Amino acid sequence: MQRRDFHKGLLALGLGAHAGLAMAGPRKEGNVPVAYHEEAARKLPVREFDSVVAGGGTAGVVAAVAAARQGAKTMLIERKGYTGGTAAEGGTALHSFYNLWKAFPGVKKRQVVRGIPKEIVDRLATVGGTTGYPEMSKHYDYDSVCTAIDVELYKLATFEMLDEAGVFVAVNTLLAGAIMDGHRIKGVITESRSGREAIYAKAFVDCTAYGDLAAFAGADYAEPNDYAVANSVGIANVNVEGYYEFIKKRDALTEYCEGMRSGKPGQIVRLSGSLQKMPPEFAAEARKIGMSMVTTTVHDNYLMFIKLNLKLPSSPTDRDVVAKGELELRRRMHRAVGLFKKYVPGCENAFMARTSPSLCIRRGRQIVCDYDISHEDVIEGRHFDDDVMAYGFHDSAPRFQVKDGGTYGVPYQALRVAKIDNLMAAGMLITSDHRAHMSTRNTVCCMGQGQATGTAAALCAARKCGTRDLPYADLRKALQKGGVYFEA
Ligand SMILES: Cc1cc2nc3c(=O)[nH]c(=O)nc-3n(C[C@H](O)[C@H](O)[C@H](O)COP(=O)(O)OP(=O)(O)OC[C@H]3O[C@@H](n4cnc5c(N)ncnc54)[C@H](O)[C@@H]3O)c2cc1C
Repeated sequence: MQRRDFHKGLLALGLGAHAGLAMAGPRKEGNVPVAYHEEAARKLPVREFDSVVAGGGTAGVVAAVAAARQGAKTMLIERKGYTGGTAAEGGTALHSFYNLWKAFPGVKKRQVVRGIPKEIVDRLATVGGTTGYPEMSKHYDYDSVCTAIDVELYKLATFEMLDEAGVFVAVNTLLAGAIMDGHRIKGVITESRSGREAIYAKAFVDCTAYGDLAAFAGADYAEPNDYAVANSVGIANVNVEGYYEFIKKRDALTEYCEGMRSGKPGQIVRLSGSLQKMPPEFAAEARKIGMSMVTTTVHDNYLMFIKLNLKLPSSPTDRDVVAKGELELRRRMHRAVGLFKKYVPGCENAFMARTSPSLCIRRGRQIVCDYDISHEDVIEGRHFDDDVMAYGFHDSAPRFQVKDGGTYGVPYQALRVAKIDNLMAAGMLITSDHRAHMSTRNTVCCMGQGQATGTAAALCAARKCGTRDLPYADLRKALQKGGVYFEA
């Protein structure tokens, strides 16, 4: 049934025979259980920590560093072999460390996300792994700066920071279950080539993006499937200026930023164009493969990100639907490189230098927390008595912007998983309203949430208290000490 729906969905996107899809042919229904097998109970070795962070991605890295720096014995569980998550796989730039001051003349420019997220960028800057914060000169009513990153150096920098903070980093390790004691998580189950283990801890943070830990723990959640999934491809042996000329010649430039590239200032680091003004065959193929024209780079002869979108017929928690999506996105990445080779001057010998290892999601499960940030909270720039960070970027800008180029606050209560005593969530898995989520899901917001939840987890573990019993004043003091910026 799902397979048929998926096929129909692709056809609706203008795909099918045209796109060379291998959807026809003999059906293999490998996903239907033929019977049920009862697993025997097993004794598992137990390890003990103060705090456990599940998922070593955008938010999780920051959460684990923050917890360890508070003195908590911390374990990070990451299913892949590296850290960094979607920030190192999906996006064009880290949005955004600044308020949207350029779109609002007279408004003060300020860096509103600092602390550990800023440290990551500072560290990348020392090895030529980021543009830093150059100002956008076109489309600055969307973001005032362009913080592009070298994704490979991002993986290294974040792994090193975890190591230096003393985090026990378990990569290539899958979080596979939760051990509950009433409304409290007693421990989690992990699986790796070293075997299946039970990890006990006092406080937990779910940074898996999919909300795997919260789901295992019995938290309430929804699966809205309200975004396309995507892969991004890094295309090498290109001429960045050639791409610029290709767009400029058609008077189609929509985004532009100059900054540090291959160690030289004043180079193109971000650009985008209007598909409507492109040659009709280019535009038609780009639409078929869900290709966005926006790109960023920190290196000469390299386009770090070209995104290919695909709408799945059901939530990306469905393994079999995702498998078909993975194949389709690999085909689309290949076709995107073909487009550059055929149409963009200086890209005739381009090749695929990097791909997302698996498809990237913008939302999997949405976990119910004690407070749900609303779109009004975001665009009205509301702050709360229990703010843990300030944030000013909206991915739908300029249609939706935070009022007057200011910021809103992410409250501590929005990061506490409802009904569970010792679990917090950070990253794309919070916020139910799609329009509000278009702000809270962005990388820099996820990182800030990571610092808040990691710090809170360590404080809760030290006090042996639940997340709701932690005095806000203590959390705020620790966050301020950790370099977090507050508007008031
Ligand atoms: C295509 C695309 C483009 C985007 N573009 C931008 C952009 O340009 N700028 C921007 O700011 N934002 C962008 N975003 C949004 C942003 O990148 C994400 O919302 C953000 O990075 C999510 O961070 P996270 O920590 O929630 O999840 P992730 O960074 O994905 O981290 C989750 C981690 O958990 C691990 N994990 C998951 N399940 C398990 C498990 N069971 N056991 C162990 N580990 C597990 C994963 O391997 C991963 O490392 C984009 C998103 C997508 C998909």
